[in-house]
Amino acid sequence: MKAAIEVPRARADVPSTMRAVVFARPGAYAIETVPVPSPRRGEALVRVRSSMVCASDQKILAGKFPATRFPHVPGHEFSGEVVATGDDVHFAPRSRVGVEVHVGCGTCDRCREGMYTLCQNYGKRETGHAHVGFTIAGGLAEYAAVPVAALHALPDGVSFDDGAWTDNLGVALWALERGRLSAGERVVVFGPGAIGLCAAQLARSMGAGSVALVGRGERLARVRDLVDEVVEVSDVDRLKGSADLVVEFAGSADAARAAILTARRGGRVVLGGSTGVGTELSGLDLSTIVRGNIDVLGSLANPKGVSGRALTLLARTQVDVKRLVTHHFPLERFGEAWTTFTERRDGAIRVMLHPVEGN
Ligand SMILES: [Zn+2]
Ligand SMILES: [Zn+2]
Repeated sequence: MKAAIEVPRARADVPSTMRAVVFARPGAYAIETVPVPSPRRGEALVRVRSSMVCASDQKILAGKFPATRFPHVPGHEFSGEVVATGDDVHFAPRSRVGVEVHVGCGTCDRCREGMYTLCQNYGKRETGHAHVGFTIAGGLAEYAAVPVAALHALPDGVSFDDGAWTDNLGVALWALERGRLSAGERVVVFGPGAIGLCAAQLARSMGAGSVALVGRGERLARVRDLVDEVVEVSDVDRLKGSADLVVEFAGSADAARAAILTARRGGRVVLGGSTGVGTELSGLDLSTIVRGNIDVLGSLANPKGVSGRALTLLARTQVDVKRLVTHHFPLERFGEAWTTFTERRDGAIRVMLHPVEGN
C-alpha cells in the first residue's frame, strides 16, 4: 500500500456488534449478530461492501478444510473500506481496498521467494500466516479484520463490486503467467466458471491470438461473446493437439486429462482447477507428455502480488467481471444467495452479497 498518512486507530462510528454469516459446524450456517473484530498488529478493519461466495465456501462448510476452525465466518472474495487499524499499521483512512486471500508468515523459505501461497507455516497464526476466510474470519460479514499484507488499494474507477474480484483475477493471471503466454498464441481454457472466464478475458488482453473456452450448457452459451470460440466438452476431441497453451480451471480429472491432450507438441498445460486433495489422474498415455515435450504445470492461487497487476488491467477495462456477477443480495438474505449459487439457479456464475444497505 502506498498511502501512509496518520490514521485514526479506531473510528467512533464502528459499532461493537455486526451481522455475519457464521458456519457453526460442518453443514450448518446462519446469519448471526457477533462482535466486530478488533484489528490486531498488522491488521486493518475493513468495512465490507461487496462479498461473493465461491465453491471453496462449499468445501469449508462441508468440513473439507482441516485448517478451518468452527464456528467460522467465511468469505474471501470481497472489497470494502478501511475504517480502523491495528497499532503498528499506517493506512489512509477510508482507503478502498480489495482483498487477496493468502498471507504468508514472511520468513519461511517460500515466503522469501514471494511464494507466500506455499508458506511453510500454513495455518499457524502465531507465525503471521493467514488464509483469509479459511483459517481466519472472512468477509461475509459487515466487518473483517484483515492483515494489511492482503490488501490492495482499488484503482480509481474500480467499483467495490469489481474490486471483490481482486483475488480471483490474481489466480487467473498467475495461471497465464505460469504458462508463459506469448502474443498471438492459441489458448484453450477449460472451465467456464468465474476463474476460467477471468483467465479467458485476461488471455485476450495479454495478446492471445485466439481463445477457445471448453465447458457445457447454459454457462457456455451465456459467455460466447467473451471468447473466439466455445466448445462443448462432448466435442473436445476436435481440439486435440491444437493449443499452444491450455489453462484448466474445471477442477476434475477428466478435464485435466483432456487439457493435456489438447496441447500441441511442445505446448504448455497449466492445471489450476483441482486444488483439493484426493483426485487422481489416470487414463493418460505418458508418451503424450514425454514424447510431446509438453510442460504440465500446477498453479495454486496468486503469489507475488499478481492481484495488484490484475487490478490494473481491470481498471483499464481489459476484463469485464460485472457480467460474471449474475445475482445480488443483501447480506441478510444469505440463505437465498447460497442456494442460488450452490444450485446454479438461473445460470448463476457468481453471487454478490452486500452488507451495506443500498449498495
Ligand atoms: Zn473463492
Ligand atoms: Zn511463510
